[in-house]
Amino acid sequence: MNNKEIAAILDDIGTFLELNGENPFKCRAYHNASRIIGSLSTDVNDLVRGNELRKLKGIGQGLAETIVELASTGTSAYYEELKKSLPEGLVDLLRIQGLGPKRVKLLFDRLKIKNITELKEAAERHKLANISGFGGKLEESILKGIAQLEKHADQHLYSKAEEAALRVFEAIRHLPGVRRGEIAGSLRRRKEVIGDIDILLSAGKKSAEAIMEAFTAHPDVESVLARGATKSSVLLNSSINCDLRIVNDEEYPFALAYFTGNKEHNVAMRTLAKQHGWSLNEYGFSELGSKEKRGKAKRVVTCTTEEHIYHAVGLRYVPPELRENTGEIEAAEHDTIPRLIEESDIRGTFHCHTTYSDGQNTLREMADAARNLGWEYIGIADHSKIAAYAGGLSPERLKLQFKEIDELNKTLKGITVLKGTEVDILIKGTLDWSDGVLSQFDYVVASIHSSFAMSETEATKRVIKAIRNKYVTMLGHPTGRLLLQREGYPVNMNEVIKAAADYGKVIEINSDPHRLDLDWRLCKYAKELGVRVSINPDAHTIHGLRNVHYGVGIARKGWLEKKNVINTMKLKDILTFLQRS
Ligand SMILES: [Zn+2]
Ligand SMILES: [Zn+2]
Repeated sequence: MNNKEIAAILDDIGTFLELNGENPFKCRAYHNASRIIGSLSTDVNDLVRGNELRKLKGIGQGLAETIVELASTGTSAYYEELKKSLPEGLVDLLRIQGLGPKRVKLLFDRLKIKNITELKEAAERHKLANISGFGGKLEESILKGIAQLEKHADQHLYSKAEEAALRVFEAIRHLPGVRRGEIAGSLRRRKEVIGDIDILLSAGKKSAEAIMEAFTAHPDVESVLARGATKSSVLLNSSINCDLRIVNDEEYPFALAYFTGNKEHNVAMRTLAKQHGWSLNEYGFSELGSKEKRGKAKRVVTCTTEEHIYHAVGLRYVPPELRENTGEIEAAEHDTIPRLIEESDIRGTFHCHTTYSDGQNTLREMADAARNLGWEYIGIADHSKIAAYAGGLSPERLKLQFKEIDELNKTLKGITVLKGTEVDILIKGTLDWSDGVLSQFDYVVASIHSSFAMSETEATKRVIKAIRNKYVTMLGHPTGRLLLQREGYPVNMNEVIKAAADYGKVIEINSDPHRLDLDWRLCKYAKELGVRVSINPDAHTIHGLRNVHYGVGIARKGWLEKKNVINTMKLKDILTFLQRS
């Protein structure tokens, strides 16, 4: 088990204890331990081997034993026992916004509510109002929360789906007989939320059965939904459906294009094929009107790669991220497909939190981790003073942080720490730091964290007023949305992007997989207006720096090139850029 997996189990134990109504100190100890392990910069397995767990502050004897057990056996008897002691659907209730362990326990104790269905029924019949602390308002918001959950029941964050898909894919791609393989579908198109996982392999007929066997027997498989010679479907224990299709190698590029989609893009491709007198499907090109059945139709053009398919209908290759039928076919016709940004173009980043506010790692740890990623600079942006919920900095702490950054920059080699802030945009669009303070930063990220209930006009005015401040470099998470959880505030993003163009401001692509905000659908518009973006991890741990991976996906999906993204600049250039803006 890696750090993340162990941290997740410790967190679950803390939650189970809470649901059992255990002593809050005990519960907190597990949640804390989860955070400690989750933000370690070393492999927890090394600490286990060296018998060094107890050296970590906050890890007592009992916790250390649980961690050792997890590291050596992959599970813990205590964890399994706690899990069994709770009704199966109870933990699901925690997914409803506004319901914490205390309330869930109350619902169970008083009304024997064990799952979402029972809760919904009780709320609809106004049975919750009898419990103290559960007014009519809460009942209403619980129903809203359930509706939200139901709406997104079959959708998953990209990050979660990618991780689940890779685990299965890595286990089968190198099996004997496999020639080519790819994760297709919306994951390949890098959509921000994913329905299910589509894996495609090309392999000889003889090996297909053994591959299917390995797939359906994968340890992550919760249940097998269908098993066939060329296609199987399973439900993974991450609650995501996963399909595997095996085709022969001649069909592979056609199947890959077909199962990558999206539907509208495929329709546009078929229309183009028709103009050439061909029909196009997941098996190949064939003469229009000839038998469509697999293997029967006469194949008119052989293509060994997806590139060949595009070339055959007179197009340049279209990268998967762009296949949404939003102008990519025309661009491929006119040879104006952009050269999309790559992860390796990133040279540094902004918007990272440290232990000075609500981050889990120190300045130095964050700087070291950024250097290990091969970056030249890391911009710190802890919260401003009003953000008490997130440990916003006082002016005194800010001075300390500046001093520590200056010292780090003297001693650290290969990485430069930039002084920044994530300053709160207050209700009227003014900022939480005075201009005098703002002028001392290398750059300023301005974000909204409170008072979301606004009209569109108010929200738009508020944001535009904030970015007009001459010290603001960029707008943070522009709509405040949380994917699959919460809509953003009703800001008119077209107006905001126009304002950013007028005042020469940057907009961040907040790369936290829950946010991915600026939305990719708006990136192209920003690009047209000359607004540059910054791909920011909003990291609260050293691992959070890797969020940039998700942000690059969104930037690519939004047609962005290296030159549209400020953190592709070299240190020297970014310093000049920040001084000028
Ligand atoms: Zn923020
Ligand atoms: Zn932040």
